[in-house]
Amino acid sequence: MPLKQQIGNKRIIIALDGPAASGKSTTARKVAQRLGYIYIDTGAMYRSVTLKALEQGSLEVVRRSPECVSALLENISICFQGEKIFLDGRDVSLEIRDNRVSREVSFISSLKPVRDRLLEMQQEFGRERGVVMDGRDIGTVVFPDAELKIFLVADARERAKRRYLELKAKMTEGSELPDIESLEEEIKSRDRADAEREHAPLKKHPEAVEIDTSGLTIEAQVDMVCDLAREIIAGQPGR
Ligand code: C5P
Repeated sequence: MPLKQQIGNKRIIIALDGPAASGKSTTARKVAQRLGYIYIDTGAMYRSVTLKALEQGSLEVVRRSPECVSALLENISICFQGEKIFLDGRDVSLEIRDNRVSREVSFISSLKPVRDRLLEMQQEFGRERGVVMDGRDIGTVVFPDAELKIFLVADARERAKRRYLELKAKMTEGSELPDIESLEEEIKSRDRADAEREHAPLKKHPEAVEIDTSGLTIEAQVDMVCDLAREIIAGQPGR
């Protein structure tokens, strides 16, 4: 019997945080499928704002005068349709995974106006609960009242290998495949920037359950999260 039928209709929020390439998106997507919940990839939202800055050629301007980022956010539209993300009405699901976006996203996501705007959108996406949301600050800032908070970690080398395979599978014509060493460097420097920034840094909420995914299969990670969700849903009064 599908999990959603076994556990009834009580709907919770599952916050999945952790460093880059720790397996958050794949786990979150599959958990959402099993529960019949919505999946929101907040990293994809920060990547979309970064792509917009790159495409408009405004990254250097924002670097010199961070307040100029507000112009980028005016009338910005970010929405999800199934597995796809749309920026201002255009499907950018592939472009946002590009390495040039990965290199700049930590800078853009460190800016307060960007965080404030995306926080608003994220809280709106989760308003009716029944959501699995992954990112860096979901359990600490976006939904500190999430019934289930998970913090995924994994060895940096292992994470670089996973990102390599993911990029390889999504390669488009003309795109370059970076080697594992440079991916490991990029992941480590992004983690440092995300953990050391002033606003909503990457950190584990004291109540979050930490799962080390280094030696785990995706199915095992998904089972663990779904088991925890099932316990919480079964034990709490309906919303
Ligand atoms: O999850 P992903 O690796 O795609 O996230 C890309 C970047 O977006 C992170 O390195 C981080 O700088 C930013 N991010 C964030 N807060 C979130 C999700 C992502 O700052 N909730």
